[in-house]
Amino acid sequence: MGDDDSSRKLRVAVIGGGLSGLSAAYELGKNPLLHVDLFERSDHLGGIVSTTEKDGFLFELGPQSMNSKHDEVEDVIRDLDLVSKKVFRSGGKSVKTLIIRDGKPVELKLSPGGFFSSRLLSFRAKLSLFLEPFKRKSNTSDLSIDEFSARRFGRETTDYLVDPMMSGVNGGSLSTLSAKYALPTAWNAEQTKGSVILGMFGAKKKHPRKYPAKLLRETISFDQGLKVLPETLVEKSKAFIHKRREVKKLCLQEDGRWNVGHWSPYDAVISTAPTYSLQQISTCRNTRLRELLSDLSTLSYSAISILFLGFKDVTSRIPLSGFGCLAPTRESRSFLGMTFTTSNFEGRTPEGGIGVNVFLGGGRKPKQARLSQDEAVAMARHELHELFGIEEAPQTVAYRQWLRAIPQYELGYEHYESSLIALEEEFAGLFFAGNYKDGIGVPDAIRSGLIAAKRVNKFQERAGNPQKSLR
Ligand SMILES: Cc1cc2nc3c(=O)[nH]c(=O)nc-3n(C[C@H](O)[C@H](O)[C@H](O)COP(=O)(O)OP(=O)(O)OC[C@H]3O[C@@H](n4cnc5c(N)ncnc54)[C@H](O)[C@@H]3O)c2cc1C
Repeated sequence: MGDDDSSRKLRVAVIGGGLSGLSAAYELGKNPLLHVDLFERSDHLGGIVSTTEKDGFLFELGPQSMNSKHDEVEDVIRDLDLVSKKVFRSGGKSVKTLIIRDGKPVELKLSPGGFFSSRLLSFRAKLSLFLEPFKRKSNTSDLSIDEFSARRFGRETTDYLVDPMMSGVNGGSLSTLSAKYALPTAWNAEQTKGSVILGMFGAKKKHPRKYPAKLLRETISFDQGLKVLPETLVEKSKAFIHKRREVKKLCLQEDGRWNVGHWSPYDAVISTAPTYSLQQISTCRNTRLRELLSDLSTLSYSAISILFLGFKDVTSRIPLSGFGCLAPTRESRSFLGMTFTTSNFEGRTPEGGIGVNVFLGGGRKPKQARLSQDEAVAMARHELHELFGIEEAPQTVAYRQWLRAIPQYELGYEHYESSLIALEEEFAGLFFAGNYKDGIGVPDAIRSGLIAAKRVNKFQERAGNPQKSLR
């Protein structure tokens, strides 16, 4: 954390110390004309990121892994000197995933060759992928992912490929998630090129990237887990970072500055707090601000729990290797998916041990996310026995419930988009960033924070003389 001469600087408050808030504060901290305070309500920086070490196992009870995805995110990784700490998912592009079909795990390799040789989908379903470019594009303003995918790729591919992949990523339900907002690349490809497959190839040529697409797609973590990223953002940030400081009010003063309840007023505020927590923030009788924040706070989040099971040794019918195992809704299993932490990143398990993360809940079975640890362990052991023949009891157990885990970009999300636009247009100096706005993944949250920071930098430039009122 850096030097300060706050009397002559524009003052910026960042609410929330998750990846979006830390990225925004890190970027803003580079601007010598700003004084930046970040307020995090808990004792933990990094938000959902929950790398855990226990009994010689290293595992994640929040996000499992990430990719850089956007040039700006790779820039941050390089700026933080984290390239040498990156670790890559074992197996690279040809990593296999197990997807349950007719009660049995079926192997699918995440490469074109692997896909076509897999027994997961019938010949007819695979053929329908070749016909996708010839299907008519939807002429509605939005569709559920279920309807969109079934129209483009057919029912079987939707049920056994799109459904488990999407449920595994955001815990939502295909029948309510919006294709336009939850799958924007596929939706835009269809809208502009008339085909998801052709459009996605075309997009690559149209928008040249700074880094090779392969590098941005690679699944990565860091040598000590994902926590390395927030820890390094904190360590190298020039912003002032305050833990155990919940922002309880967001009040627009008569001079156009913001009172966030801590220290003197701020010229600009970036809120990265999850939308549901905005309901608890007082607006000091500003009814329009109250109305818009309350509206935003009704955005729904999926409930997901993660159970880690560590075994010293197991005997299983099918090796627990590759990415993990996903459960399509049609298979009616009691879990969403599993990741095999041992084989995803090397060196995270004691010699000979096996680590499995089991995901429970999501849109299809939200009550499962509320199971007690003992109930979750019993359920997971039953599934591991039935699917893989594992009888051994785990020696290490850890459990984390995220009852409001991932914001759902459902049909009707444009209403929330309009509220966010109205908030930023009607209230000068107020900005929003986070996984409810620019995408749900780790790289999306980081980029969202960086975008908000750039907008604050522009705001500061427009202000010209920091002493001058912005209104
Ligand atoms: C179970 C799970 C698994 C996931 N797996 C992956 C994955 O494998 N790969 C991937 O790319 N993404 C994954 N994600 C998504 C990714 O982790 C998140 O989208 C991202 O970390 C969100 O960052 P954020 O900063 O937007 O929000 P958060 O991490 O939620 O941070 C918000 C912060 O704001 C603080 N806060 C709230 N209210 C206040 C207040 N009033 N005052 C001060 N502070 C406040 C909170 O305490 C919190 O620290 C997963 C998410 C979950 C839940």
